Amino acid sequence: MEKISMVSLGCPKNQVDAERMLATLKNAGYEIGAEEADADVIIINTCGFIEDAKKEAIENILEAASYKTEGRCKALIVTGCLAERYQNDVTEDIPEVDVCVGIGANGRIAEIVREAMDGNRQNRFAEKCDLDLNGDRILGGYPFSTYLKIADGCDNGCTYCAIPKIRGRMRSRSIEDCVAEAQKLANGGVKELIVVAQDTTDYGTDLYGRPMLVELLRALCKIDGLVWIRTLYTYPDRITDELLETIAAEEKLVPYLDIPIQHCNGEILKRMNRKGDQESLTALIEKIRAKIPGVVLRTTLITGFPGETEEQFAELDRFVAETRFDRLGCFAYSPEEETVAAEYPDQIPEQVRIDRAEHIMERQLTIAGEKNAERLDTNTVVLIEGWDDYIKCYFGRSPADAPEVDGKVFFLSDRPLVIGDFVTVHINDTLDYDLLGELKK
Ligand code: SF4
Repeated sequence: MEKISMVSLGCPKNQVDAERMLATLKNAGYEIGAEEADADVIIINTCGFIEDAKKEAIENILEAASYKTEGRCKALIVTGCLAERYQNDVTEDIPEVDVCVGIGANGRIAEIVREAMDGNRQNRFAEKCDLDLNGDRILGGYPFSTYLKIADGCDNGCTYCAIPKIRGRMRSRSIEDCVAEAQKLANGGVKELIVVAQDTTDYGTDLYGRPMLVELLRALCKIDGLVWIRTLYTYPDRITDELLETIAAEEKLVPYLDIPIQHCNGEILKRMNRKGDQESLTALIEKIRAKIPGVVLRTTLITGFPGETEEQFAELDRFVAETRFDRLGCFAYSPEEETVAAEYPDQIPEQVRIDRAEHIMERQLTIAGEKNAERLDTNTVVLIEGWDDYIKCYFGRSPADAPEVDGKVFFLSDRPLVIGDFVTVHINDTLDYDLLGELKK
């Protein structure tokens, strides 16, 4: 049977889609997991929501295309958000691509590969809602930590964001389907479950008529084998007291919240079609920190949004300095075609957008280092992810570290340890984003 290589780019939600396609291909008898150079078919599962992501996708597609001329690759297939967003333009602009597959057609990937190998190079698109959110997965990453995608699409309509156009309206999976998958993952050895969607706090509104994240989290906490349950992509307006009290009360719910706020200035947020202002956000963050002692807060910001004045940027800079988020990512605004904000007349020059983002990240680097220094001479639980043969120590993550976006804990041990186990580490040194320590005796 043909060998398949899958390269998945972008966010965890896209990664889950790739894992489902791999399971479909494996169940159809294909050999998966091949290196690109050894593959008969290469699938690039793309991200496509901002300029940088599109560039990365095209670079990966062109690199894969080189294996068609030099390697054994017979078919190059592009899936994911870039494919969904640009459709036939992908194969018109990049003739090396044999088939472009929209997200609604992911479920037919095995048939598409078969036909591509037989010479049928027709692009495949379907309704976004045809994307099956359930089904088997071949997990990428660590076998003890993975994502649970509870919904796809988004109804929030932020004016800068192309995701609703790519992924459509929000579609929640049923609580039963989510719990069944989580149970299966736990039976398979998963200990850390990371709950994701475009907006996890809106989960269930379409299916149950009201947000049901709390009910879902409580149900997930009942699953034996799961140790850490972490929630990402919450929406500030939908953070309820009940959610905070549940996170504080349930031992398995990691005291970690990812709340992309994007900005703090009321006028800018309004033009983003988001609510709130510095006052309401400050009050929300104070409430979260009061209700969940020791909570780790991650956020995401956008600088250089159309019309952002020096004063409004200075306000954001002060807000970051005063709020002292534990984790923060900041992106320069990327005008995306077919979004409302891209049509706003008062666009900010690109270099100014980038300079502002870099300024915020420099400020956050200082804050991150200071916050890490506060953890000196303390103990923390660590989920062991591996052994670093170069610096001869183990590494892993504490409850304060989400995978792929946050720091690590590097630590020495006087005895062999098992990857995937939880241990207690005494922190005896700190870096800006990482911690150093040794296994607690
Ligand atoms: S919440 Fe806003 S930024 Fe996030 S996916 Fe939805 S529309 Fe995009």
